Amino acid sequence: MLEDLFKMVTTRFNGDEKNEIKEFKCPRCQNGCGADELQKNMWVCPECGYHSRMNARDRIAITCDKGTFREYDKDMQTANPIDFPGYEEKIETMQEKTGLTEAVVTGECTIHGEPCIIGVMDSHFMMASMGSVVGEKITRAFERAAEKKLPLILFTASGGARMQEGLVSLMQMAKTSGAAARLSEAGVLYITVLTDPTTGGVTASFASLGDIIIAEPKVLVGFAGRRVIEGTIKQRLPEDFQSAEFLLENGFVDFICERKSIRRTIAHLIRLHRPPVKDNGAALADSSPADKSPAENKSKTSKEKTVSKENDENMGSNGNASNAGNANNASSANSAGKSDKSEGIFGAHKNKPGKGAGKNG
Ligand SMILES: [Zn+2]
Repeated sequence: MLEDLFKMVTTRFNGDEKNEIKEFKCPRCQNGCGADELQKNMWVCPECGYHSRMNARDRIAITCDKGTFREYDKDMQTANPIDFPGYEEKIETMQEKTGLTEAVVTGECTIHGEPCIIGVMDSHFMMASMGSVVGEKITRAFERAAEKKLPLILFTASGGARMQEGLVSLMQMAKTSGAAARLSEAGVLYITVLTDPTTGGVTASFASLGDIIIAEPKVLVGFAGRRVIEGTIKQRLPEDFQSAEFLLENGFVDFICERKSIRRTIAHLIRLHRPPVKDNGAALADSSPADKSPAENKSKTSKEKTVSKENDENMGSNGNASNAGNANNASSANSAGKSDKSEGIFGAHKNKPGKGAGKNG
């Protein structure tokens, strides 16, 4: 199954691959390996397990079920709202270099048979800084997830707000956060996967608002840079400050997950959070309908009827799909070997003080 995935990566994105390096030298352990070997290992250093940065297309290829990804808003174009000198040229250069129109790719897919909406930020495009198009695409992903009642999975990476768009880029923080709140009110699952590096305005908005926050091992996640903070507070910061592990210890992320297990973990989480259904396929009512006035109950019921109708349709395909997913699961568990197993689906799950409280506040 994995071989198929990798074949798809190279055949689907040949155009992107041409400019890629032939040799990879690990920035952590300094060991070298061929680009092919690195790709086979999901862009993780075979020697030390360093999770190198991936482009959005490759990430989609290793995460989504083959051939299921349908992209949203592909042709949305970046404007130059504050007439920043040379911005248009910079965007054009980045588009040629990466084959992307902007720093995030969003769309719909299935993961191990589970339908969902996915967004992947690409640090190769202006360090995935958040301008108006990135903010708009992310916001639309939230809105579509709420409308279609599909879980939203965002792989974040960013240098922060895009300074070439000034205030317009900062506004994206409020816009995306508002959209995240509405998705939460709609009761739809939202998972963020923090990848290297997730910083600045993206950390300070939608990246930190996931119902479940996953991080890849040892990735950099923070708001301001280390030197800025040390200069401000006149103190030395711990060595592992702003690493995924440090954030886990301090309750900022829920668990750390190796890249090879992320696809399976996401599918598992989606299944766990699927709305409960009765045998006849109708969605279960709220546990405490007595708390509400009859009028509220009535409107809720009619609303639920439409939801359950949708669920009926979904469940037909869902049922089959999750069977297929389970089959995939079994085979991938076999091929991935015991390291997956020992790590468990929740990886290094530690105590996380105050997470739940923070979420509601
Ligand atoms: Zn290495």
